[in-house]
Amino acid sequence: MLGAIIGDIIGSRFEFDETPAEGFELFGQHCSYTDDTICTVAIADAILNGRSYKEALLDWCRRYPEPMGAYGSMFQQWIHSANPQPYNSYGNGSAMRVSAVGWLFDDYHDVMREARNSAIVSHGHREGIKGAQCVATLIYWLRTVRITKNEVEHAVRKNFGYEIPPLRDIYKIGHEGHFDGICQETVPWAIRCFLDSQNFEDAIRTAVMARGDTDTKAAICGSIAEAYYEVPEEMIERVYDYLPDDMLQVIEQFYTRIQTDIKG
Ligand SMILES: [Mg+2]
Repeated sequence: MLGAIIGDIIGSRFEFDETPAEGFELFGQHCSYTDDTICTVAIADAILNGRSYKEALLDWCRRYPEPMGAYGSMFQQWIHSANPQPYNSYGNGSAMRVSAVGWLFDDYHDVMREARNSAIVSHGHREGIKGAQCVATLIYWLRTVRITKNEVEHAVRKNFGYEIPPLRDIYKIGHEGHFDGICQETVPWAIRCFLDSQNFEDAIRTAVMARGDTDTKAAICGSIAEAYYEVPEEMIERVYDYLPDDMLQVIEQFYTRIQTDIKG
């Protein structure tokens, strides 16, 4: 969960305004949490506190109606609709918010079902559901059976049908100005950034340097990387400074629940 939030906050200032340069400062003054963090907290809150995914997403997104970078326009309408219904989306929002599902369920079938349920309240398209299921399942596999990076690529292709392009192709598209707003692009591309990384910080940097939807790609990459690498203590401490108390409470509840000492 913190992997996604760290990726979101580090990637935030590069989504529209700045161009990342090699060795960029991780936590700049223009960094902020964005929709990726808010929705990630909402999904965790739903599971931890027995709320429906829809109720929790609406609550958190209405509580934080104008995050840096804004919500996607369709999701924005969904948040403020009187009777929000799924809108057949395959936007990458279903995949960036799902990480808690991969940690809080301990059976493959439960992870797949809950990833679907967390997506389908807004992202009803099969690609939107698939993106969430792929990310949650990878987190689950990495943290439980410790699949290797070599196995990840094969498992992702076999189970979810994603071809994971080489990093140079992703960088080329990103540097041409393409914005990857959909699951079919951001999910396999974020997985490639994880696969080609040396450690957690490098995974985030690799995703941000790929440009495009930097905060969401780094959030998805970071959520997967957290299940594989150790997250540096100083990155956790830095990211807490950006987060309001109600989000920190859910994060604390989450890490208490999974009984890890990741937050120190
Ligand atoms: Mg965002």
